[in-house]
Amino acid sequence: MSRSAHPAGPRHADVLPEGHYSAPADDLNVLDPKVWAQTVTRTEDGSVSVGGIDVSTLAEQFGTPAYFLDETDFRARARAWRTAFGHDADVFYAGKAFLSRAVVRWLHEEGLNLDVCSGGELATALSAGMPADRIAFHGNNKSVAEITRAVEAGVGRIVLDSFQEIVRVAHIAQSLGRRQRVQIRVTVGVEAHTHEFIATAHEDQKFGIALADGQAAEAVRRALALDGLEVIGIHSHIGSQIFDMAGFEVAARRVVSLLAAIRDEHGIELPEIDLGGGLGIAYTSDDDPREPHEIAKALGEIVTRECEAAKLRTPRISVEPGRAIVGPTAFTLYEVGTIKPLEGLRTYVSVDGGMSDNIRTALYDAEYSVALVSRTSDAEPMLVRVVGKHCESGDIVVKDAFLPSDLAPGDLIAVPATGAYCRSMASNYNHALRPPVVAVRDGEARVIVRRETEEDLLRLDVG
Ligand SMILES: *Cc1c(COP(=O)(O)O)cnc(C)c1O
Repeated sequence: MSRSAHPAGPRHADVLPEGHYSAPADDLNVLDPKVWAQTVTRTEDGSVSVGGIDVSTLAEQFGTPAYFLDETDFRARARAWRTAFGHDADVFYAGKAFLSRAVVRWLHEEGLNLDVCSGGELATALSAGMPADRIAFHGNNKSVAEITRAVEAGVGRIVLDSFQEIVRVAHIAQSLGRRQRVQIRVTVGVEAHTHEFIATAHEDQKFGIALADGQAAEAVRRALALDGLEVIGIHSHIGSQIFDMAGFEVAARRVVSLLAAIRDEHGIELPEIDLGGGLGIAYTSDDDPREPHEIAKALGEIVTRECEAAKLRTPRISVEPGRAIVGPTAFTLYEVGTIKPLEGLRTYVSVDGGMSDNIRTALYDAEYSVALVSRTSDAEPMLVRVVGKHCESGDIVVKDAFLPSDLAPGDLIAVPATGAYCRSMASNYNHALRPPVVAVRDGEARVIVRRETEEDLLRLDVG
């Protein structure tokens, strides 16, 4: 059984002509607040500042390429999610989007919880003082060592992803004399992509336990029978960079029907459901993301309505935004190195970073925008492709964009909305040194993840 529930939106990649690009903005000097962090502005002398500090000053002090993270914006977004979901719901920031000890402390202070999906992320969270009971541990193949560490630390929940893991976590918890709170991750048969979703019976992917064929019900049956586990709820995560709430609606309906089946079979109403993350942000001016309060309202209404229909008490809801909190808060600052006009095609602008600091364009065909930030220009727009310095023709940072045609080597350009899945997916390809993350707030800039050095590289190479 498979049905296509929504047609592709007009911006879906499949329906765009090859080589599509939007027309240039009327004025390339204007920074669209949708894609730039909150405190980013163009100053009177024409250059751009963040947190009150000019990008040229930042480049001198910290070098390029570098990620500059607007702490004021990060905290505001975290708080907006927290406030929108109120006291009857929990917000778990998905650490995989970007995690550092400073970020953990901001989340703690702003009242958010934290998702981790590896021993390394768990170690980072604990070392920065996130209370263990506010941490959720995810992953489709957590090692015995990782599970043991998580149970010992007392994490608030482990999200169980397979039949083997149900037994594994129960066994570890019991041998440590603990009863571990767990959620069971189910796949509801909703594949959500940006402007469309597809509802099916089965999902062809590695995460979770299928709702179809009674698999998830069987998982709940087994977990409830094990002393080492306290089953607190059901988890569903349907995708990423999603704008359309309809996929969440189908997911919530299917999760609630499982809760009703559990009540009918076991006489218990599980107290929590987690609807995952995946909410979209604006990478370009064409994207129109929803505000946290709209999302909270929509999800709350869907769950309440479905529970009323099933005569269930409304469970406590949790959500797991990663990208939606950190994505818009940072930009990557690059220096232009070479400029190569290809007659009749476009101009290739090479910067001092590339796929090692932003793999998303190569990996997901992601779209980004870019702006000249060290000065203004009234020159005509030229169609550019911003590329990196790696030995690979797929090393593209921004596929299609417009920059002023008087662009010159030494100019600083910035790619906005790189807070999520850029530093966290950065690599050492070509022995690149991964860039620093610099937090900027109220006229002060502070390195929160330092730039790698050749010494760092050579330390791992033991000869
Ligand atoms: C990746 C992930 C998230 C966060 O996704 P975003 O697109 O960054 O919001 C949340 N929950 C789970 C289980 C995930 O795997």
